[in-house]
Amino acid sequence: MERTIDVGVLGATGMVGQQFVLQLANHPWFRLRWLGASERSAGQRYADAAPWRLPTPPPREIADLIVQNAAPGNAPELVFSAMDASVAGDIEQAFAKAGHVVVSNSRNHRMDPDVPLLIPEVNGDHLALIEMQRRNRGWGGAILTNPNCSTVVLSLALAPLRVFGLRSVLITTLQALSGAGYPGVASLDALGNVIPHIDGEEGKIETETKKILGRLAGGAVEPHPVVVSAQVNRVPVINGHTESIAVSLDAKPSVDEIRQALTSFSGPPQRHGLPTAPLQPVVYLPEANRPQPRLDVDRDGGMTVSVGRLRPCPVLGYKFVALGHNTVRGAAGAAVLNAELMVAEGVLSSAARR
Ligand code: NAP
Repeated sequence: MERTIDVGVLGATGMVGQQFVLQLANHPWFRLRWLGASERSAGQRYADAAPWRLPTPPPREIADLIVQNAAPGNAPELVFSAMDASVAGDIEQAFAKAGHVVVSNSRNHRMDPDVPLLIPEVNGDHLALIEMQRRNRGWGGAILTNPNCSTVVLSLALAPLRVFGLRSVLITTLQALSGAGYPGVASLDALGNVIPHIDGEEGKIETETKKILGRLAGGAVEPHPVVVSAQVNRVPVINGHTESIAVSLDAKPSVDEIRQALTSFSGPPQRHGLPTAPLQPVVYLPEANRPQPRLDVDRDGGMTVSVGRLRPCPVLGYKFVALGHNTVRGAAGAAVLNAELMVAEGVLSSAARR
């Protein structure tokens, strides 16, 4: 790319917002110029608005930026959104209406029929919905979303198995505390404990997966017929959602054939060589006790899903364990990869380039 593209982050002071700042620091295509948050933070230096909670500090020039109100106007055309879902719906619409391209993490617009719910390796072709969205809504901007953090991991593990005919899936998650934002779950609830409930999470996994794996036909997504049943748990892990998955397939591939399908899987990000794309979206770990969040979550900058323990299942056919980084592959990294795909495929309007 000859020129860089100015970008902003809405919800920059939160858990995912801070991850965005790190993902965008030194990005070869994007230059972070604008930070937005609530009235509580607006007007303050970014470094003073909220305590920094990640191990790598933000770059000096970002720490000195003044946080703005989350209103369209002086923000760059391309904005990433990591706002609380209680406010994200309306604010993202206001930005899109004002001509901004909003690449969002929030749940609010994920299931809108004309909004892509994108994992570039899995359903990059769903980007075509943007054109329909602009026509339907009469706005020059756009809203593009990435899935819920557990759904990303599940969908990346299932997509390579579509060729065998996905029939049904049972998934049990062990989800990290960082997935609940900050301060999230109280320490007295989380420490030495497992909480078998995360509000709204099971429904998101069961419905979003079908949209992502679905087929774009006649300008709409036909949901994949796979039936998904989810049981979620919050566990005392800092980063990384682990998922125990059992699948029933139409075909009867060998375990080796499934492993081969997982590890040979790739898509448009790898073909385009996008800056945030992992070399291999899904890796297979042969050790009997992997993947583990502490050892495997940061593989390839947190953008790779690690799979292990693939074996026959006497109930559904096959079972395995998958792990992914919830605030990187499941949030900020996912959105940055989505924006990179838009640029590579010429979907971002030329007005965003300066
Ligand atoms: P968080 O730490 O609670 O941060 C929320 C952000 O929203 C803060 O920047 C906050 O700004 C901003 N905000 C709150 N009210 C606002 C308002 N009225 N106007 C503008 N901004 C406002 O939450 P998080 O974990 O980063 O999650 C952010 C979003 O990403 C959520 O929708 C969440 O569901 C989604 N998500 C999270 C994960 C994850 O693993 N954590 C994964 C995927 C998706 P102030 O600091 O000024 O209040």
